[in-house]
Order: sequence, then C-alpha cells, then structure tokens
Amino acid sequence: MAVRSICVLPEPVLRQKARKVPTIDNSVERLIDDMIDTMRGVSGVGLAAPQIGVPLRVAVIEMPGEEVITLINPEIVKRQGERLIGEACLSVPGYQGELKRSVWVKVKAQDRRGRYIRLKGEELLAQALEHEIDHLDGILYVDRVESGGLWKSVPAESPEEL
Ligand code: ZN
Repeated sequence: MAVRSICVLPEPVLRQKARKVPTIDNSVERLIDDMIDTMRGVSGVGLAAPQIGVPLRVAVIEMPGEEVITLINPEIVKRQGERLIGEACLSVPGYQGELKRSVWVKVKAQDRRGRYIRLKGEELLAQALEHEIDHLDGILYVDRVESGGLWKSVPAESPEEL
C-alpha cells in the first residue's frame, strides 16, 4: 500500500474518459488500497482513479465515521432533487465553488470482490457519488459551476475535498 501523488489540473488524465475494469485482479486490488491510503493521507472524502493518474473506472468514498465504499464501474441509475452546495476537489487545489447537485442518487457498481451492488446516497454521499463518477468521465466540478460561482478557498471554511 502506498500514498500516491494527486494529479491536478491541467493533467490530461483528468479529462480522459476512464476505461471499464474488465477483471478485478491483483493490480486493481493494489490500486484500490493505494487510493484509500492516498485519500486518507489528504483527508479527502472521496477519490477517483484518474486523480492518481490511472484512467480506470474505480472510485473510493469514505464518509466521516463510516466504512470505505469501493466502487468499480459505477453508474448512476437514478437521481432526485436538486440543491445548491459548496464543493472542492483535490485535483483543483485552492479553489471552491458553488453548484447544483442531486439530493439523492442511486448507483450500481461492483465492489472490490466483484459483486454487483446497488447503493443509495443522500446529501454529502450523493454529492460524493456524483463528483467521483464525474471524474471517471473526465468531468470536474468546475465544469458545473455557473459563472461567478468559483473562488479561492479559505482553508478553514473550505468544503470537504473530493
Ligand atoms: Zn475531485
């Protein structure tokens, strides 16, 4: 297990559509472990594989006080509601923005054992799911911010980084 360095804009890997994981082999297991270590190392709530330079459809999320969620080949199958929230990304350091996210989402994916799972998330978890799955399509939150909705962040008041 290892902490890897985080890619920041304008690294091209952040703009690529990540590839599906065909089989969960040792290299994917290692990738997941490294992603968890890296996310914890920077106190992030979520991390997508392209953020450490790997264009594969893998994401991890760790909500405060809860178990790590590993998502392989995740897809949003349903979303509901809309809310305006603050957001920040480990790959866009020093900034935060305001944008609209769903209140509730349902995602299908595989877990690290390859089992098919369905997951529902509200509020911060819904936000993290949308943010990380966006990363797998080369989309960053700054793309979803309306004009004037992005500013330099004040560390003490910055939203959770994803
Ligand atoms: Zn991000």
